Amino acid sequence: MANLLISEIFGATIQGEGSLIGRQTVFIRTAGCDYRCAWCDTLYAVDPVHRPDWQRMSSHEVLEEVETLTHGNPILITLSGGNPALQNFNALIDLGHDKGYRFAMETQGSVSPDYLSRLDYLTLSPKPPSSQQRTDWSKLDNNVRKAPKQTHLKVVIADEDDYHYARALADRYPELPLTLQPCNLDTMDEESADVDALNDQLKWIMQRCQQDHWYAPSLLPQLHVMLWNNERAV
Ligand code: SF4
Repeated sequence: MANLLISEIFGATIQGEGSLIGRQTVFIRTAGCDYRCAWCDTLYAVDPVHRPDWQRMSSHEVLEEVETLTHGNPILITLSGGNPALQNFNALIDLGHDKGYRFAMETQGSVSPDYLSRLDYLTLSPKPPSSQQRTDWSKLDNNVRKAPKQTHLKVVIADEDDYHYARALADRYPELPLTLQPCNLDTMDEESADVDALNDQLKWIMQRCQQDHWYAPSLLPQLHVMLWNNERAV
């Protein structure tokens, strides 16, 4: 059954963000999102105006594509979006696990499908105030309840309000490791992000944490932006 709505499948490449940064992986980018973040960098997988470019695929078809891209080597599969948690990945996880693939998902935590606990890795990336979206904390709690053992939080930081949001998040879920990253505000320019500004923002995040003697979070750049700017599917 072609029940998965897909924007693009690409790789193998490297994970540029979060706790799995640097891992070689294939990305399955699903289409559709329940958010509309002010600085969304994947509008082509969010805005229904791009629907003609989206494809309905079965789990078998998706895994076939992944096997072609990885030459049959069972590496890490990253489920991204859009919001991938809107899709039913039970069958794909079964098929992939049978062949030795591992699954990571990145989602904002606004819906909590039953298969979350069956993922090998989960990155919960709730969106801070600069996104102009509002976090439903009870829904995020549901995600944390269903989360697999290897679950991390990730927040992108654009300003002081975002920093305080990250602190509140850390207070709510002290058991989960947290990564902070600079927020790419140049997402409307398909070619060029302001990498210098992102580096400066990362330095500011570091100084801000040190000012508060807050040493728990890991602080990371957006590696894929440093390497490929805003280029798609690399
Ligand atoms: S949650 Fe992610 S994919 Fe959805 S609008 Fe926000 S940044 Fe874009």
